[in-house]
Amino acid sequence: MGYSQEDAVPDETFRALLLEEAGGRTAAEFRELRPQDLPEGDALVEVAYSSLNYKDALAITGRGKVIRRFPMVPGIDLAGTVAECSGGAFSPGDRVLATGCGLGELHWGGFSRMARVRPEWLVPVPEGMSLRESMALGTAGFTAMLAAMALREHGVLPGAGRVVVTGAAGGVGSLSVALLAALGYAVAASTGRPEAADYLKSLGAAEVVGRALLPSLAKPLESETWAGGVDTVGGATLAGLLASTARHGCVAACGLAGGADLKTTVFPFILRGVTLCGIDSLVCPMDRRLEAWGRLDEEVPKEALARIAQVKPLSEVPALSEAILAGQVRGRIVVDVKA
Ligand code: NDP
Repeated sequence: MGYSQEDAVPDETFRALLLEEAGGRTAAEFRELRPQDLPEGDALVEVAYSSLNYKDALAITGRGKVIRRFPMVPGIDLAGTVAECSGGAFSPGDRVLATGCGLGELHWGGFSRMARVRPEWLVPVPEGMSLRESMALGTAGFTAMLAAMALREHGVLPGAGRVVVTGAAGGVGSLSVALLAALGYAVAASTGRPEAADYLKSLGAAEVVGRALLPSLAKPLESETWAGGVDTVGGATLAGLLASTARHGCVAACGLAGGADLKTTVFPFILRGVTLCGIDSLVCPMDRRLEAWGRLDEEVPKEALARIAQVKPLSEVPALSEAILAGQVRGRIVVDVKA
């Protein structure tokens, strides 16, 4: 499919992954839809790629309360070409992406060949970035960038000391390692997968630390090991990170892959001035979104991106959702919605 200004959107069917709820269980099924089946929105996007995030996997398997309205087309990310846009914010043929904003949770998302969305959710894909690269980044890359911006804004600059990334072989983790290393930080990549060590070093990690070897919260304050950190794991890992962060350091908390609880003490905050900075990629003002995507284009090396991402067909998304929750997916999965 391809559109010019004069083209009408074809009435042909397209494939989408649709989630329904029955008896408290989530069922995922591929369906043929028509453009008129899509919910309201001023922009119609012909989706080329989406990506598979941890949150998508929770939604598709029904293991997390992610979906707030059924039936739902999941997929919190999408990248493609504008087919129609009333209001004039975008023109047919414009290359756009969207991440978060309730896509795949409240509004039909990216696991579909066509998506109807609000134009204010759309970000122009940076000139030098392909649609595929934009989804190799996706929510994970955007989150990694917000975390890197938070570290810098809290005074943790390259040269400050070791910066740790937890869940390093995952999507947000891999992109954080590559980005922070490219920015000149000394990155310690923490992983539960020893076999990922060479991969993490190839992304620029200065050292790889086994998940079990991270300082834990045995004492309220551990020795000052990290200048800062990006945490995708939560729970005891985040508590240990806070206790072992150096004076005036900052930990950017992104995720809960290891647990949502946080048992800590106030000592890191009141005795060392440590900042715990929350990262929310879902709702983010457009000027910060644009800044983050501009920086992603400039600061994430394209070779690292190619090493991190693999492209998989839409048909494999349900099986891959199980794999990502089992911690078996390395890096990022770009979803080819045409395949
Ligand atoms: P991935 O599944 O790609 O990565 C998660 C990684 O966490 C795994 O690869 C693994 O890393 C590690 N991990 C998994 N289970 C455990 C465990 N039980 N204990 C310790 N470590 C574990 O997910 P994403 O990168 O997409 O997302 C990571 C987290 O960040 C998720 O919780 C997600 O919901 C959250 N997130 C939050 C965002 C926000 O806006 N705040 C945006 C995007 C994601 P390894 O194998 O290296 O040990």
